[in-house]
Amino acid sequence: MRSVITGGAGFIGSHLAERLLKEGWDVVVVDNLCTGKKENLATLPVEFIEQDICDPLSIEGDVDFILHFASPASPEDYMRLGVETLATGSIGTRNVLELAREKRCPVLFASTSEVYGDPLVHPQREDYWGNVNPVGPRSVYDEAKRFSEALVMAYHRYYGVDTRIVRIFNTYGPRMRMNDGRVVPNFITQALRREPITVYGDGTQGRSFCYVSDLVEGIVRMMDVGEHYPVNLGNPEEISVLDFAYLVKGIVESESPIVFKPLPQDDPKRRRPDITRARKLLGWEPVVPLKEGLKETIEWFRREMGL
Ligand code: UDP
Repeated sequence: MRSVITGGAGFIGSHLAERLLKEGWDVVVVDNLCTGKKENLATLPVEFIEQDICDPLSIEGDVDFILHFASPASPEDYMRLGVETLATGSIGTRNVLELAREKRCPVLFASTSEVYGDPLVHPQREDYWGNVNPVGPRSVYDEAKRFSEALVMAYHRYYGVDTRIVRIFNTYGPRMRMNDGRVVPNFITQALRREPITVYGDGTQGRSFCYVSDLVEGIVRMMDVGEHYPVNLGNPEEISVLDFAYLVKGIVESESPIVFKPLPQDDPKRRRPDITRARKLLGWEPVVPLKEGLKETIEWFRREMGL
């Protein structure tokens, strides 16, 4: 069996590649390395194609499954690469769906909790349509992912492509990019360097963090289920950003002070998945407690930083 992972050199994509290889799949990775890193694949025997998915995709030979993970995903990255992010989530997704049509294979699309925007319903169920600012700074990502979801559903409805959509909530673990600006790498590297831990706003905003191995398990189970509507994948345990700062500081045993910085525009106040559908459809739920996953992640960062 042969799979194609777009964005396979990224954080989640590379963990997925590793898992599929372990299960005996051949893996082709397509990535333009705009936020992914080749080192993430260093120990993995994948076929690597360096290209932007906005250019037409041609892959020789049979393909049995496509996993579409290519896109900048951290707020700093997608705001820096705004137009590229919109292109990836529209032209890029279309190219990926055309490849699925050509190869007559299923395709799984990595969507995001950002489709719910700054949600007015809490926790978020898949049937909530979201509260997205279509012209705000996050719209380059949110609307790209929402458009991709619409395109995926259209390819399913009009062309009979066998599609899946997972909506991924905040995920963390080894191989996150150290300087991607997200809360997990920021707090961990700041705590390890004994630098101030930068809490944006008053830190009362909530997030729910899923360890990457739990997420990958959910994705792999989703591959075997013929469900075309979106399924949330994430950890239903929510923590405030301020409590998260104290948690990281505690595990690292760091003397870093906690400092407060302005809250970015349209930063969602709360985010927590309702995973009832995933539980029912996949028999799945996260099993790694936040503290355990953080210890693993911190150890990995410590090694990466040569500490
Ligand atoms: N955040 C923070 N300090 C940082 C980086 C992020 O307080 O150094 C906050 C950010 O404002 C948001 C939350 O942490 O409320 C999660 O941000 P992240 O960029 O990881 O991803 P998001 O969940 O917003 O997509």
